[in-house]
Amino acid sequence: HYVTIMDIDFLNTTKETFLRAFIQPRLMNEQPCFIVTANPEIVMQTREDPAYKKSVKQADYVVPDGAGILLAAKSMKQPLQERIAGYDVMIDLLRYADKHGLSCYFLGAEETVNKKAVAEVNRNFPNVRVAGRHHGFFDVDDPEVSDAIARSGADLVFVALGLPRQELWIAEHKEMFSKGVFMGVGGSFDVLAG
Ligand code: UDP
Repeated sequence: HYVTIMDIDFLNTTKETFLRAFIQPRLMNEQPCFIVTANPEIVMQTREDPAYKKSVKQADYVVPDGAGILLAAKSMKQPLQERIAGYDVMIDLLRYADKHGLSCYFLGAEETVNKKAVAEVNRNFPNVRVAGRHHGFFDVDDPEVSDAIARSGADLVFVALGLPRQELWIAEHKEMFSKGVFMGVGGSFDVLAG
């Protein structure tokens, strides 16, 4: 089920099975969940930064996002089934949210980028309920943002705060959320905003 690379346990599955068998039940049961789509940069950061490693270790699921991770697994003779890219997971989750009328919160990126990304979500996934949004340049010690997200009751929370802030932020706050699938999405809002 898992392949361990540099002390990180990667779930060995396909993107489709990951979403259908692992994430959709969490959404249906409103169970909180923390996903890390780990690329080689993330894995290297866990080697250099113990606090960051601790945050990644708190994830419910770590999946491999990058050819480098798949190569490492192959060289260990424990091949991973496929790359599960963060951006693709985000888009698939938005599609699922659109189909089921779920609510999403968008945290991170510059204010203009965040606004534009949410506008694109509204345009492309009209049944997604936007639970709220906030840019990514706030003081981490200010509870206002995490309180707003908890109050929003969002089913999905996309966190685009870059490396290492996004995983640190999710790990640090996850205890206060009674529901919500949380994932760090790196530069995905910039891509969405175009
Ligand atoms: N970002 C943010 N707050 C920060 C640092 C970064 O919201 O304090 C956003 C940034 O605007 C971008 C995303 O995080 O939309 C990813 O940033 P970057 O590409 O620098 O991250 P990395 O490649 O390190 O994940």
